[in-house]
Amino acid sequence: MPIATVNPANGETLKTYEAMGEEELERRLQLAEATFRTYRTTSFAERARLLNRAAELLDGMQQDIGRVMTTEMGKPVKQARAEAAKCAKAMRWYAEHAEELLADEEPSDFDVKDSGASRVRVHYRPLGPVLAVMPWNFPLWQVVRFAAPALMAGNVGLLKHASNVPQTALFLEDLFHQAGYPEGCFQTLLVGSGAVDEILRDDRVKAATLTGSEPAGRAVASTSGEMIKKTVLELGGSDPYVVMPSADIDRAAQIAVTARVQNNGQSCIAAKRFIVHTDVYDRFAERFVEGMKALRVGDPMEEDTEVGPLSSEQGRTDLEELVDDARRSGAEVLCGGQRPDGPGWYYPPTVLAGITREMRIHREEAFGPVATLYRAADLDEAVLIANDSPFGLSSNVWTRDEAEVDRFVRDLEAGGVFFNGMTASHPAFPFGGVKRSGYGRELAGHGIREFCNITTVWHG
Ligand code: NAP
Repeated sequence: MPIATVNPANGETLKTYEAMGEEELERRLQLAEATFRTYRTTSFAERARLLNRAAELLDGMQQDIGRVMTTEMGKPVKQARAEAAKCAKAMRWYAEHAEELLADEEPSDFDVKDSGASRVRVHYRPLGPVLAVMPWNFPLWQVVRFAAPALMAGNVGLLKHASNVPQTALFLEDLFHQAGYPEGCFQTLLVGSGAVDEILRDDRVKAATLTGSEPAGRAVASTSGEMIKKTVLELGGSDPYVVMPSADIDRAAQIAVTARVQNNGQSCIAAKRFIVHTDVYDRFAERFVEGMKALRVGDPMEEDTEVGPLSSEQGRTDLEELVDDARRSGAEVLCGGQRPDGPGWYYPPTVLAGITREMRIHREEAFGPVATLYRAADLDEAVLIANDSPFGLSSNVWTRDEAEVDRFVRDLEAGGVFFNGMTASHPAFPFGGVKRSGYGRELAGHGIREFCNITTVWHG
């Protein structure tokens, strides 16, 4: 895949980049290692000062970086600006909380005495240069949710961003540089995915985090496994959105539309499978389809656009094949399902009903504005359908019944359960999945501790 900015709204190639050569990569790896030696000794106050400065700069650049993201991957420009604002917020959150999240821990007096020690503490120390392999769908946020905690913990970052967002990748390096970070604290490596294996095998790289597809996750995890390096994987999702009879059905249908089409439907935590109790199925389906049909699809640079194009021609073809496969196997198309004529990689908001286990879309991730509807006879069947997926990222349930809440929390196989709302990440809450959605957690205290050397310090 060439490293290039190609506008998904019209297919025009705007800028191409040469991949960095071996010499440049070597220089950057040396710099990362050298910078880490001193940066690791900086105080939390100094790290927080730098990160707050980066947040301040980012706030001032929302308009510009918003337009760059929209040009590179097609998200509506309003959502792109909101993404930049969310990044600045996460930076401030970690600047404020990292010291307390990584404070030394002391076991109880009883345990200390029991071990024969006079004193025991647990320290969280940084690991070193961490490689971040990142996707294009939230090109700022995915990186910042790694970088903010990593830098606050005293690590340094090496970013291998997706090949279709090079300008956003370079913007990030420049942002940290302008904020005053020592050179080498955060570097962008402009390379294709073929270069990742060798970088991971380099002794100077201590760990890796990957957000992206299953094949990419498998490749990074297997090399890291061979090299015995810690990894965090945030992979795909096909989140269930369960609606039970006690819910506010109109509101559930309204939020369902946003939950499915946010980011042009290309979000790992978008609700993708809508599992509705039979008593409220017809009403929910009617409102949901109405909402999907009413969306404004068009130029992502327009302020009032709600759904823009998919990020690539291949992305649209993959989605189309999932829909066609379902249709051939008997799925009913309640709206959409036909690509429009004209330039750009647009695909209309689509709702499919009558999904069966044999259809690819039942097991695979639909990465675009396509929803599948399921009818469930009762709570047990809703849980069965929800868990009948290789993925387990997050989940959504609409109910006002407390007994049902307990059952869903106990039984849903996912890294999150969001009641009466849609899944969203927040710096204070851990984020990640189970099953083939990956392992490890980002954000909150759980995220910042993933790339730390948890050190026991024992005094006799
Ligand atoms: P992708 O093809 O896996 O790309 C993600 C990153 O991995 C890119 O930087 C890509 O580089 C690199 N990559 C691809 N193949 C690789 C390999 N064999 N070895 C090393 N690196 C490799 O994923 P995508 O299509 O861009 O992104 C969509 C996927 O990401 C979806 O499945 C989505 O659900 C998932 N995602 C998950 C989360 C989460 O938090 N769980 C968040 C967002 C997205 P190139 O661009 O150079 O190929």
